[in-house]
Amino acid sequence: MEQLLKILEVFWIGIKSIISNPTILSLLLLALLMKLFYPKFRGFMGEFWVKLELNKLSKKEYIVLNDIMLENQNGTHQIDHLVISKYGIFVIEMKNYYGLIFGDEYKNNWTQHLGKKKYYFKNPIHQNYGHIKALEEILQLNNNVFIPIICFSNQAKMKVNSKSIVIQLDYLIQTIKKFYKIQLDMDINSIADKIKLLNITNKDQRRKHVSNIKAKIKADNQKADNMLCPKCGNQLVLKNGKYGTFVGCSNYPKCKYIKEN
Ligand SMILES: [Zn+2]
Repeated sequence: MEQLLKILEVFWIGIKSIISNPTILSLLLLALLMKLFYPKFRGFMGEFWVKLELNKLSKKEYIVLNDIMLENQNGTHQIDHLVISKYGIFVIEMKNYYGLIFGDEYKNNWTQHLGKKKYYFKNPIHQNYGHIKALEEILQLNNNVFIPIICFSNQAKMKVNSKSIVIQLDYLIQTIKKFYKIQLDMDINSIADKIKLLNITNKDQRRKHVSNIKAKIKADNQKADNMLCPKCGNQLVLKNGKYGTFVGCSNYPKCKYIKEN
């Protein structure tokens, strides 16, 4: 009992000295805040660096639009960055990921490796393709004026097998400037104005977009758990591959869906 009291006393003195020391206390608070808000802070800084890079483009030749949300009959599309020029309309999907990125143009999911941990995310080339389809339809422009770009942060190391453009932020401006042939012989301001007019700025609608995406992912996972293909609705089956067994769509090769994890 005596000993326990002694231990408690020493413990209490320790706590008291931490609380009464403003430096230690503020460091502790800072660490706590960092832990709570780090993902948000990271995202914010990521956006900041992209905008800084895009600012390097001549304002006379390029119009930059950030965080655009457009709607068509397939739903809402959130586009990170659009660069409109007479050389084409660059549709940029930004991924502020770090670590090692593995991806393939034709796979449904890509992976991010952080040490021994592995996270799946949706193939951004497919995502951007959806955005371009919507833009084509909304702007009534030909597919070949759009240039899709997937841009990762400079911290990401990429092992991506793809013919379309997948780059790090450091290469964004030089990649855009590689396109110098005139593709659009119309006023780029009128295109920008049309997009700005159709851009959904309403917060509730934007929130709904996010919750719709979450609901879609949940429904897809449920389908896959019930051995139904989320892409085409056919039965999923257990298959033998080069690297062991996996669950894939019975409608292969028409449907290339493979269940991850
Ligand atoms: Zn399928």
